[in-house]
Amino acid sequence: MILVAVLVIEVMARLALEIRERRLSQLRGGVFAVLRLIPLVNDIVPLPENRREPTENEFVRKHEEGHSELRHGILRNLAKVALLLLAVWLFAFLLASRGMSLVEAVLWLHLAAIPFRTVFHLYCWHQEYEADRYAFEKLGKKVAKAAMRDLAVSEIPYTKLFAVIYREHPTVAIRSQKILNKEIKAGQGRAA
Ligand SMILES: [Zn+2]
Repeated sequence: MILVAVLVIEVMARLALEIRERRLSQLRGGVFAVLRLIPLVNDIVPLPENRREPTENEFVRKHEEGHSELRHGILRNLAKVALLLLAVWLFAFLLASRGMSLVEAVLWLHLAAIPFRTVFHLYCWHQEYEADRYAFEKLGKKVAKAAMRDLAVSEIPYTKLFAVIYREHPTVAIRSQKILNKEIKAGQGRAA
């Protein structure tokens, strides 16, 4: 059956991604890493992003101001609603027109959502870059750099590939590359 084959491919691909992540980050995945391999379960497993809460500072406040100035929350919600409608349509189509069972339809929906989720993440990332740029223009390079270093201390380092699959936020490494043309990696101290 095609469905089973595609699900096996999904599990294998996620396993390869986890192994690559462990190797590159040198961090253990824990129980969440195992849960991320299981179809459907991986749709709801939370991904911890920070070791501790990032410090609230001027840059963070301006970044948030940028989000609201640029209407990011509304746009993000509209994108979510559009994706949800698409999912409802696909679900109804699979059940009614293709005569699938409920379980089959849910699993196909889960698979179809993977590329859409990735695109949605990239859209969210784009908003983060815009909010960063907004804050950068208001506060300047020095403040932005200090804020990125601050953030790097609290962030759990994920690779770009892993982040685009699982995270709505770009990593500090990507954000600092975007606004400072310099990659500040998570785990690097603020003293540098
Ligand atoms: Zn943001």
